[in-house]
Amino acid sequence: MGKKVAVWFRSDFRLHDHTALVHAIEMAEEINAKIITFFYLDPDTATTEPAHHDYFFQTVLHFKNRLKRMGGDLYIVTGTIEEALESLLQAHPQIEALFVNNDRVGSGAIRDQIAKNYLLAKSIPMYHFEDSYLTEPDQVLKKDGSPYKVFTPYYKAWVSENKRVPKRIEEDMLRACFLKSKPIDEKAEKKFVDLLDKCQRKWSAIGEEQAILRLQTFIEERLSTYSRHRDFPTMIGTSRLSPYLKTGVLSVRSIYNQVIESEANEHSAETYIKELAWRDFYRMVHYYEPKCKEEEIIPDFRKIRWSQDEERLNAWKEGKTGYPIVDAGIRQLKMEGWMHNRLRMITASFLVKDYLLDWRLGERYFEEMLIDYDPSSNVGGWQWAASVGTDAVPYFRVFNPVIQSKRFDESGSYIRKYIPELKSVPEHFIHEPWKMSKEEQQKYKCVIGEHYPEPTIDHSVQRKKAITLFKESKDV
Ligand code: FAD
Repeated sequence: MGKKVAVWFRSDFRLHDHTALVHAIEMAEEINAKIITFFYLDPDTATTEPAHHDYFFQTVLHFKNRLKRMGGDLYIVTGTIEEALESLLQAHPQIEALFVNNDRVGSGAIRDQIAKNYLLAKSIPMYHFEDSYLTEPDQVLKKDGSPYKVFTPYYKAWVSENKRVPKRIEEDMLRACFLKSKPIDEKAEKKFVDLLDKCQRKWSAIGEEQAILRLQTFIEERLSTYSRHRDFPTMIGTSRLSPYLKTGVLSVRSIYNQVIESEANEHSAETYIKELAWRDFYRMVHYYEPKCKEEEIIPDFRKIRWSQDEERLNAWKEGKTGYPIVDAGIRQLKMEGWMHNRLRMITASFLVKDYLLDWRLGERYFEEMLIDYDPSSNVGGWQWAASVGTDAVPYFRVFNPVIQSKRFDESGSYIRKYIPELKSVPEHFIHEPWKMSKEEQQKYKCVIGEHYPEPTIDHSVQRKKAITLFKESKDV
């Protein structure tokens, strides 16, 4: 039996510009080894809920099938991480090294340390590489070595960092390297099949090929207008690449490179690149603030006594707050597992500063519903909206949902798309349907309080309460 090297895929289901795979191929060629590829099914996360699990596991299957068509497979192992690695090594004792892309925050970082120690005890090196971000979390630092607290200076330093160029992986080379063997763990394979049977939702456009196509279309057709259109949810103005970045079917370096090299309007390209920098920024914040999912980054605001009112939380989760723009955002999330960024900001601000609810409740709900759920970006976005995080919106700046609605969905077409009860309501009432007279409500087939809820709060009253809540916590 010849030598082998293993590649562990976990949120990087692609064959282009995959750093660990590139290095594994190099070693395989050098020592004349075959490559075995596997996926660790963690029993704690082997559920189809939340939605991002369903999306994720269907992506894993898509990738597994792709590897099979190329003469390999994505073998499934399970149990504790040590048990999973044990089964891998029992089936393939000739493994010389394991290659993996880094996971540097949260439970993934802890799991990787356990795996590394386990392999070390068996004298098998685990080579890990930075892959899914443009910079490492501890790379862009202030001159004194401390992390940035504000995005703008971070961005200035981030821009001048060299970014790696994407690496090509020749498919023929891969085909030649892949090892086709029998399953490592039949029970784990069966568990994976059972799990997939429970994946109920139909997602369109899953996987690497679709992701590459979407990137090309975005660059050719929409990048030039990105800076003008990105805030308007009815326009398809953004790239919608976030689920692909989350599952790693698309390399962020490919996106970056294609944007830089495109002939698109320079201002738009820079605006887009800045969003990729925000992604790095929030991962850096998460790295230095590992408790940020639980705790406000600004210490003063840890004392705020947030409401836990279930009735309000349910109204928000159901898209029944009585504020159309907020409800439309939440309903998009429920229908598509994705929400436009402007709506993420509006709905998050509403939960915190109009309902005065604990931002963590909203963060958890997004975690449950988003297919692009990313702990660093989600917590970053929530702490930003709740004014409790690094470089967050100031606490006295409270989004007015009606003004936001008029500004970003002027004609109301986004609202009508997701709230059928309001589909006949004309433009001058769509943002504040409660202003319709009884006759108008009959005429437009939307009786407030019956077909669509009355506003559940008065924004101007809640705004003042929110500001007081913050002020009081600063005074304590
Ligand atoms: P584009 O506008 O095309 O941007 C391109 C890419 O840049 C995105 O795919 C994303 O990777 C990155 N990006 C854009 N905006 C941000 C941002 N503000 N912060 C970090 N990265 C950004 N993004 C997630 O990927 N996962 C989340 O769980 C998540 N939760 C959020 C929660 C809240 C409350 C807020 C306000 C924002 C959240 N975001 C999250 C950021 C942002 O809303 C999404 O990345 C964006 O809407 C994805 O759509 P897109 O791919 O079309 O974005």
